[in-house]
Amino acid sequence: MGHHSHSRSLQCRHVDAGSCNGCEQELNALTGSFYDMQHVGLDIVASPRHADALIVTGPVSDTMMTPLRAVWAALPRPKRLVALGDCAAGYGVFQGAYATRGGVEGSMRPPDVVIRGCPPTPAEILQGLTAVMDTLLEPSSFIDSQPSADLVEARRIPPLEQPRGDQTPGDVGEREI
Ligand code: SF4
Repeated sequence: MGHHSHSRSLQCRHVDAGSCNGCEQELNALTGSFYDMQHVGLDIVASPRHADALIVTGPVSDTMMTPLRAVWAALPRPKRLVALGDCAAGYGVFQGAYATRGGVEGSMRPPDVVIRGCPPTPAEILQGLTAVMDTLLEPSSFIDSQPSADLVEARRIPPLEQPRGDQTPGDVGEREI
């Protein structure tokens, strides 16, 4: 990225909800000197209380659903939910697997931003997280952090390669959060 402003920043909490670790490796690449995510105002924080956004990787395994919901509940508003990778988006190689919950949407609620890919590249992740920063700058985000279906659709980051055409997100379960 050519320039940045310190008026923009995004602190992110990341939860691995059953991924193969591929998405984590690409996310970790952002912290190196080449992509230098901190230089553009992005950072990964240890506590959800300090986070503006929750990044989820993996298809959301049965055992991770409750901890994931607890972390999401701990983020202060306004907050953003990011599905990173095809698994978290409800697609991917684990789609429909017996111990999974259909990604972020199937286990919790529709994500604000979806970054497709298996895994997405660091550049695609950077693009997606920058889009999250933009949504937090919108005045409406201070009134209601629940995304409308139109907003979710508008924020979807297309993958470089087309996904398999007939796939749809997995089962949609409870959505009390
Ligand atoms: S999207 Fe691909 S790389 Fe990411 S967790 Fe799923 S299988 Fe692994």
